[in-house]
Amino acid sequence: MNQQYVDLHCHSTASDGTLAPREVVRLAKHSNLTALALTDHDTVAGCAEAAEEAARLGVDFLCGIEISAEYPLPGTMHILGYGVDPENAALRSLTETLIAGRDNRNPRIVAKLNEMGVAVTMREWQDEAKGGVLGRPHLAAILARKGYVSSIKHAFDKYIGQGAPAYFDKERLTPRQALERIGASGGVAVLAHPIQMRTENDAQLERVMKGLVDLGLAGIEVIHSDHDEAWVKKCGALADRFALIKTGGSDFHGTNKKDIALGSARGRRIPREMFDTLARRVKPQTNPDERR
Ligand code: AMP
Ligand code: ZN
Ligand code: FE
Ligand code: FE
Repeated sequence: MNQQYVDLHCHSTASDGTLAPREVVRLAKHSNLTALALTDHDTVAGCAEAAEEAARLGVDFLCGIEISAEYPLPGTMHILGYGVDPENAALRSLTETLIAGRDNRNPRIVAKLNEMGVAVTMREWQDEAKGGVLGRPHLAAILARKGYVSSIKHAFDKYIGQGAPAYFDKERLTPRQALERIGASGGVAVLAHPIQMRTENDAQLERVMKGLVDLGLAGIEVIHSDHDEAWVKKCGALADRFALIKTGGSDFHGTNKKDIALGSARGRRIPREMFDTLARRVKPQTNPDERR
């Protein structure tokens, strides 16, 4: 049988992607992907629409979420939760906590930008987000459109990225809390793009992984647009070593990350098997009798 491909990490207008959930699914279908997981930041608001379109088009679908956990700078730790149930009370409480963290941070970014002579308002940011979770890429897009910067990337470098003058951290859950709350929400936790933790060496990376595995981590994102061949290998080896599920995704954001295409992690495609392995792990949780 022909090799089939999937994408297990992408964003829609429910957070900081530029395609609506149903449009992401349509693009998946057009790109010949047979399965998709939507992983918006801090929300599952796009999952119902995406699931409906996926069922219509015959694309297999998993609802996911991506959350950011406390981690020492300059690294970031993102954790993906797959198979979370949008109706679950623990999940609702989790997303409320996460959005409150943004609501505390965002006005500080805008105030600092104003102080620096950049004319932008919370209202404009809200309009740009079109009802979705407000992310910095939306703000970056506004700054680019207004001519303060030449690109989204430039907006991060000059103003709102880590280390830039209008960067403010948001309150995060500890990795322990993040993993607990994904579990309580019926989700399977996977460490996203391990390269972004910016560990100093392999020994440190292994220690961090061991800590997360002890806290209930189930998988590791092996294929990602930030991972070169060496990182794909490194993460594959860690998965084998700690008996973790291997996942992969592009981290597609539509035109908010122009150089990333759905289904392609810089040219590397994500094999169907990664979806199947994840879906098998997720499924038992929907049926308490089968829970191990
Ligand atoms: P937020 O969740 O609002 O803090 O924004 C995080 C989003 O901004 C993620 O999609 C990141 O990929 C994106 N991002 C963070 N740093 C940069 C950067 N230096 N250049 C471009 N995008 C970035
Ligand atoms: Zn994003
Ligand atoms: Fe991420
Ligand atoms: Fe992402």
